[in-house]
Amino acid sequence: MPALFVGHGSPMNAIEDNEFRRGWRDVARRLPKPRAVLCVSAHWETTGVSVTASDRPPTIHDFYGFPRRLFEVRYPAPGQPSLARDTALLLSHAEVRLDGERGLDHGCWSVLLAMYPEADVPVVQLSLDSRRPASFHYELGKQLAPLREQGVLVLGSGDIVHNLRVMDLNRPHGYDWAVRFNDEVKKRIRARDHAALVAYESLGPDARLAVPTPEHYLPLLYVLALRGEGDDVAFFNDETVMGSVSMTSLEIGESAP
Ligand code: ZN
Repeated sequence: MPALFVGHGSPMNAIEDNEFRRGWRDVARRLPKPRAVLCVSAHWETTGVSVTASDRPPTIHDFYGFPRRLFEVRYPAPGQPSLARDTALLLSHAEVRLDGERGLDHGCWSVLLAMYPEADVPVVQLSLDSRRPASFHYELGKQLAPLREQGVLVLGSGDIVHNLRVMDLNRPHGYDWAVRFNDEVKKRIRARDHAALVAYESLGPDARLAVPTPEHYLPLLYVLALRGEGDDVAFFNDETVMGSVSMTSLEIGESAP
């Protein structure tokens, strides 16, 4: 099973018909249908590592100031407690908590709503342990590799560039520094220079503006960590928007287009 990282951008992408949402829909059509999705989203940060372990994870509306119809969206995909337990076993060097209450955040459901609108693929979320350095997240990602063999789609959801303080809703494309950083990251991904991507804070002068806080960048490292020798990488939705947000997404797999 390939692995995916998606730039999720605005929550409105969940319900707007736009090129990004169509990109998510199209990648799901290309991929084999997964047995389940394990999602690592920017929007679930915890102390320690947690996985959702409920049969019926609720839809979390973890945003403010958006239209009511966005708050009315429900994504009723089932959970899969057995996958939660398997994931906890794979990550045995970290202490993993099974969370029977937590639901799916918008980093997860806004994308999956476009990918699997029938909500017929079970979904488990893995949290980001916010105390840990980037190298910890990359190593954790490596340990998820057996899930690919079992038909589980590992989906990282964040944004390579994400700076809400300087975001400009009226600006269709990215600032120069956002485009530069996004290009630099893509260049390093193509070159398999994962060491540089883990040490992203040293990735040129634009890094501090592009990644002012790590949570939207870190899901990328989980997906890169799953890239095997024979895997290609293909980019899609490759744009920066609103000045300081990157929608750039990538598929890793043996036959990535
Ligand atoms: Zn986000």
